[in-house]
Amino acid sequence: MAGRVAGKAALISGAAVGLGQSMAARLSAEGARVAVADIDTAQGDDVVAEIKAAGGEAMFISLDVTDEDAWRAAVAAVESAYGHLDILVNNAGIATAGSVDKMSLKDWRAVMAVNIDGVFLGTKHAVPAMRRAGGGSIVNISSILGLTGEEKLSAYCASKGAVRLFTKAVALECGRDGSGIRVNSIHPGYIHTAMMEADCIRDYGDIPTGLAEFGKLHPIGHVGKPEDIAAGVLYLASDESKFVTGSELVIDGGYTAV
Ligand code: NAD
Repeated sequence: MAGRVAGKAALISGAAVGLGQSMAARLSAEGARVAVADIDTAQGDDVVAEIKAAGGEAMFISLDVTDEDAWRAAVAAVESAYGHLDILVNNAGIATAGSVDKMSLKDWRAVMAVNIDGVFLGTKHAVPAMRRAGGGSIVNISSILGLTGEEKLSAYCASKGAVRLFTKAVALECGRDGSGIRVNSIHPGYIHTAMMEADCIRDYGDIPTGLAEFGKLHPIGHVGKPEDIAAGVLYLASDESKFVTGSELVIDGGYTAV
C-alpha cells in the first residue's frame, strides 16, 4: 500500500478509543501496519475490524502500559507479526481531578503509573526493537498541561510535564548513539474525546456547555478533534520529520500562545 508511512509497523497504546483510535486509522490509511494496544479488548477489537474493513492491516494487543512484562510481550508480538517495529505512540493516559490536599497517594500514583511509568516502559522496550529495525520514531502524547498548570489537575500536569522532559532526554541518547531513533512529544489542547467529555461534565454539568466553554480557552474558538492530533502523529512518525527529534509539537488552537 502506498502512503506516507508505507511499509512501517506501528504500536499505539490506548488505541481503543479517542485520540489513539484516530491515530491508528490515520497511520493505517497511510500504509502502516498497526498494533492497537489497550486494556479495553472489546473496543480494541472494533478498531481493528474497522481498519481491516477499510483495507488496512491491524491486530489487537492486550496491553496494560503499567505492566513491564506486557510491554515485552507487545513488542515481541509486533516483531513476530510484522518483522520489525518502526513507530511507537505512547498515547494511553488518564486524569484524576481534585485539589492537592484531598488527593490520596494512591490516586497520585495511579496517574503517574499510566502517564509516565507507561511511557518509560514503552520506550525502554521499543528502543532495542527499533535498533534492530535500523531506526524508528517514538511519539509521546503529553498535553498543553505538560506546558502550563491547571488547578485541580496537579498529578496530571506533573505527569505530562515529566513526559515532555523524558522525551528530550531520550532523544539525546538516541540521537547521539547513531541508532536512527527519533523521539518527540505532542501537546494537544482540549480535544473532543471521552476523556474530555468527563472534563465537561465535571466542570460544566453537561457536554455541550463544556465543549463551548472549553472552546473559548482556545483562541481559534473551539476545541480540537482527534484527527488534528493524528495528523501530527503521522508527520512525526513519517520520514518527512527525519530531522526532528527532541521537539515538542503543540497542537492546541493557540491555547498556550496567550
Ligand atoms: P480516552 O480516555 O478517550 O482514551 C484513553 C485510552 O487509553 C482508552 O482506550 C483506555 O482504555 C486506554 N488506557 C487507559 N489506561 C490504560 C492502561 N493502563 N494501559 C493501556 N491503555 C490504557 O483519552 P484521550 O482523550 O483519547 O487521550 C489520549 C491521550 O491524549 C492521553 O494521554 C491524554 O492524556 C492525552 N490528551 C488528551 C487531551 C484531550 O483533550 N482529550 C488533551 C491533551 C492530552
